[in-house]
Amino acid sequence: MDVALKNKAETKIWLSPPHMSGNEQRFVQEAFESNWIAPSGPHIAQFEKALTNYTQSKYAVALYSGTSAIHLALKCLNIENGDVVFCSTFTFIATANPIHYENAIPYFIESEKETWNMCPIALESAILKTKANHQKPVAIILVHLYGNPAKMDALKAVANKYNIPIIEDAAEALGSTYHGFPCGSLTEIGILSFNGNKIITTSGGGALLTDNKAFAIKSIYLSTQAKEATLHYEHKNIGYNYRMSNVAAAIGCGQMMVVDERVSQRRNNFEYYKKQFANTSIQFQPEAENTRSNRWLTAVVFENKTKKENVQEALLRQNIECRPLWKPLHSQPIFNNCLYEGNHFSDVLFEKGLCLPSGSNLSEVELNYISKTVIQSL
Ligand SMILES: *Cc1c(COP(=O)(O)O)cnc(C)c1O
Repeated sequence: MDVALKNKAETKIWLSPPHMSGNEQRFVQEAFESNWIAPSGPHIAQFEKALTNYTQSKYAVALYSGTSAIHLALKCLNIENGDVVFCSTFTFIATANPIHYENAIPYFIESEKETWNMCPIALESAILKTKANHQKPVAIILVHLYGNPAKMDALKAVANKYNIPIIEDAAEALGSTYHGFPCGSLTEIGILSFNGNKIITTSGGGALLTDNKAFAIKSIYLSTQAKEATLHYEHKNIGYNYRMSNVAAAIGCGQMMVVDERVSQRRNNFEYYKKQFANTSIQFQPEAENTRSNRWLTAVVFENKTKKENVQEALLRQNIECRPLWKPLHSQPIFNNCLYEGNHFSDVLFEKGLCLPSGSNLSEVELNYISKTVIQSL
């Protein structure tokens, strides 16, 4: 191993670390100087404005996390005990947890092969079974996995046919586009996450995106303890403490200035790996026609489980962080005996796939080092 690579092994390469632009501190400084160190303040409005501009959504409500945004999206749709929510199975558990907060029933839907996102055919069979069972479907939560846009036209056609609203979990997909339109605002409600590992971060945070004014008002109301518009504290509903803090929003203002740059840096990582692995049997998450993934994480699939494990071990030995692809939710112990529609495609992806380091601040030396480590352990 050459010296540059050897030195590299002494510092860890992270999967998807935060990447500040240098603009953030100016906004945070403003927040400190004006003493808006609270879950209200001018940077929240400024951050929300940047989000609506960028996503072409009418309203953005800045929240404490992507998970709280999903929870409030379900509340906007008046979710009730025992309602059924169709949900991508191949995703992070945060997509489904809020279904349980409301004692509703998740119905996990398998992915199709072209994008690894919710399969419209499986969705329709699940809807038909739910109807036959006289259960009430209240929403579809679909994910743009690793930033890769789902087959929205086909999914929307099914949703419209049965009149079920879609919540777009775009936690990983800020900056991705479907037929030129930004992910997160392709349906009645979308959500974003600004967790530390996402494409931009506020250290922790999320947002709800919608064109529906009533949804925006309801989300703000519920995220601030459901206070009525009186001087004293009057409450007619149960609320939450879900609003984003002004300091976090100030970080977000700085991060929003560089979203497009972050997307091209992540896409470059993907292209780099693709080139390096051209002569191997490694396969990449496919991007559908007319869509543009932000390539939040480069997700690859190996020929078999053994190869994946060999690569995983080699990377970890070299102090390079990598992660298996999401373990599908229908295979999680917590969702034992859940409703599930599909052919177990995502179980195979989980078994054979890995996410490679994908930070927007990866250097070419690091990318080279990671690629060499992968190829040598195949
Ligand atoms: C990160 C993530 C979330 C949750 O966002 P938090 O801000 O961490 O609460 C939800 N769904 C998906 C697909 C995610 O990757």
